[in-house]
Amino acid sequence: MPDLQPSGPASLAGLGVSPGRTAGPCLRMAGPPALPAPNPVTDTGAELAVVGQALEAVAEDLRRRSAAAAGADRGAAEILDALAMMADDPMLKEEAEQGVRDGLDAPHALDAAFARHREALAALGGYLAERAADLDDLKHRAVAAALGVPMPGVPSPGHPFVLVAEDLSPADTAGLGTDVLALVTVKGGPTSHTAILARGRGLPAVVACAGAAHLVDGTYISVDGATGEIVTGVTEEDAARVREQDSAERARLAATSGPGRTADGHPVKLLLNIGSAADLRPDGEGVGLFRTEFLFLDRKQAPTYEEQVTAYADVFTAVPYVVVRTLDAGTDKPLPFLGLPEEPNPALGIRGLRVDRVLPDVLDTQLDAIAEAARRTGAEAWVMAPMVSTPGEAAAFARRARARGIARVGAMVEVPAAALLADRLLREVDFLSIGTNDLSQYTYAADRQHPALADLLDPAQPALLRLVELCAEAGRAAGKPVGVCGEAAGDARLAPILAGLGVTSLSMAPVCVPAVRDALARHTLEECRELARAALDGR
Ligand code: PEP
Ligand code: MG
Repeated sequence: MPDLQPSGPASLAGLGVSPGRTAGPCLRMAGPPALPAPNPVTDTGAELAVVGQALEAVAEDLRRRSAAAAGADRGAAEILDALAMMADDPMLKEEAEQGVRDGLDAPHALDAAFARHREALAALGGYLAERAADLDDLKHRAVAAALGVPMPGVPSPGHPFVLVAEDLSPADTAGLGTDVLALVTVKGGPTSHTAILARGRGLPAVVACAGAAHLVDGTYISVDGATGEIVTGVTEEDAARVREQDSAERARLAATSGPGRTADGHPVKLLLNIGSAADLRPDGEGVGLFRTEFLFLDRKQAPTYEEQVTAYADVFTAVPYVVVRTLDAGTDKPLPFLGLPEEPNPALGIRGLRVDRVLPDVLDTQLDAIAEAARRTGAEAWVMAPMVSTPGEAAAFARRARARGIARVGAMVEVPAAALLADRLLREVDFLSIGTNDLSQYTYAADRQHPALADLLDPAQPALLRLVELCAEAGRAAGKPVGVCGEAAGDARLAPILAGLGVTSLSMAPVCVPAVRDALARHTLEECRELARAALDGR
């Protein structure tokens, strides 16, 4: 494919992972330093000193950027601090120094030490394998420091631009300045750091856009972070117009507030998806999905009971209505402290509630801690289990939660079998929450992290909507709430359809709330139902 020159408009498709429209000149991120041919080492002491200074320079740079980010974005500062700790790892330094003693120059010794650590991480699979890219980024920075060339990273041209990259490391994303209009990456998936951090900052982002590899610096492009469409070759005037429209739209949405309602006042609760108290924002009507496993993703030791009580109480104190999901470990979110064995098909194996089959103490401790946090704070905790497949599993989970005095017990619907028997599930539990990310994956047999299968994972397809409808109808018949908490709930185009299918709440990344509130308010309930009928028919 030839480079895309700034001639006539052309369209590129990617995966929209953070909503918003913008346009401007695109700029690529500086590439990693080229490693020159090895230099014979004549002064081992001097070379050892270069290794130490390079690692220290990388850690120091990350700490400086963390301090700069701390006021505006605590999450970004934490990521930068974690990376600085990786660069400070004494084992890594020792390995690189050993490389020098074995005859390598400092850049090659650093390159080899980082590569070995990366391999070890990649072999662990899942979430930790995704973190292997963090080590590549640190390696490039350390090698650049050892070579005395500028560290790779985000350009700083002195004017607003769309950042285009092969992939973005957490350090790149966390250190972004306010001159970045949007992010476009060739690689990455919906759960990549680019996606998570872009949503956190309200920055439009498109990932898995193969065509972006051919964009030329300075080309004006427009980016739609909801649809994933990129248009190249727009004029400077068009770009200015798109930005103006976007800021007017953002200002209009920012001015909206209040609970979720259709135009004729039918309530659909707007709730937040969070991984810890740090993700809370002053919008929405409570928390619809507290992903507790996010608190413990990098842990080698199991979190203690007290530690869990504190983490849950932090959220309960800030928000009166919280749905806590018990640990959803396994496949894309391995929890190393569980020590689960590797499996040939992890997405179909021991994950979510199924971990309880092999490690029942983990759920008991967590339920104890949630109940205690609710007692200490006076909150009414709602608790739900991930990956429930049968009414029997729902009943067993509900018994254990209720035995601890937990007020409301629910089940996530992420497996088609659970949706098909939603009415029976609701005989056992007080509410259902539909996880469309996994429900799409299992309905269409398409790995949710696979960028090439994005079309199959689209939750707007009739088969998935039919399952949502089944759950909502079961909820209506039982007089119990049925919400959606997968990424579909934060898609403003889908919100009226989901409301029309009968769901009672939508839980989403905080940044999505204003647009979803606005979309609901534009349609009456009857119009939502008509939109739902059309979507079910594939019209
Ligand atoms: C889902 O599967 O839709 C969901 C909300 O859970 P997670 O994305 O954490 O697996
Ligand atoms: Mg899920």
